[in-house]
Amino acid sequence: MSDMRLIVAGAGGRMGRTLIQAITAADGAVVAGAVDAPASAAVGRDAGELAGLGRNGITVTTDVTALLASADALVDFTVPAASVIHAEIVARAGKILVLGTTGFSGENETLIAEAAKRAVVVKAGNFSMGVNLLAALTRRVAATLGEDFDIEIVEMHHNKKIDAPSGTALMLGRAAADGRGVNLAQRSIRGRDGETGARNKGDIGFASLRGGTVVGDHSVIFAGTAERIELTHKAEDRIIFARGAVHAALWARGQRPGLYSMADVLGLGDV
Ligand code: NAD
Repeated sequence: MSDMRLIVAGAGGRMGRTLIQAITAADGAVVAGAVDAPASAAVGRDAGELAGLGRNGITVTTDVTALLASADALVDFTVPAASVIHAEIVARAGKILVLGTTGFSGENETLIAEAAKRAVVVKAGNFSMGVNLLAALTRRVAATLGEDFDIEIVEMHHNKKIDAPSGTALMLGRAAADGRGVNLAQRSIRGRDGETGARNKGDIGFASLRGGTVVGDHSVIFAGTAERIELTHKAEDRIIFARGAVHAALWARGQRPGLYSMADVLGLGDV
């Protein structure tokens, strides 16, 4: 099979640059194009140079539609407003979208689900294998322990992150809620402050820390009477997300249109 041709959206960003490195190093995939926002300083620059690899002859542009005509997939780690537009463009072209952006509103999620009726969309708040395994373990532990154990999810990220809780923390919260057979939206407690009253049994709590250059730490704490179980993952380099996204793109080739998760890609559904 010929190499899969991938376009990187948000090429000038932290993840975009890392994706260019990961795709360049991967077997079976090549960088077919790179885009960023019209106002970005990355536009007009060489994508390889941006990624610290030396020139690769691919200039960062702003026109996803034109690039998609000769590519297989768009790998998008940008901002929600851009990602929903990209999802519609990919759906119209009937291509593949690997979507790593986080911080989507409910309305954004509906638009993405709509696009996934016409395109293969692999969407994950975290593309690392370790975190997806953590989510599967969280689901299983939550199902085993029940509501006698209080669940708290703690995350820490670098000081440039713009959304909280992290997409990964929410993914872990959904895994815990799934394990318990409850709806996360009805049980989640975020950012306690002041006289909050005692904790309600069955709540799933979130706490977000920001500082320095932390790539992403996540812990799921199951706090019972006189004992505690803590499941933790620490990301040390963004390359783990980028490699996961490339793996997802290669997996997506040949799938039917639909909305897929990294658990689908990794076959973790039954853990
Ligand atoms: P960043 O701010 O460094 O990069 C975002 C890039 O998107 C910038 O270059 C920006 O100019 C570009 N952009 C904005 N609007 C655009 C548009 N209309 N078209 C094209 N490009 C546009 O951010 P980052 O740290 O690279 O993170 C990006 C997103 O990925 C965030 O939502 C973050 O939470 C998420 N993320 C996800 C994972 C995962 O595994 N799913 C891992 C890390 C980060």
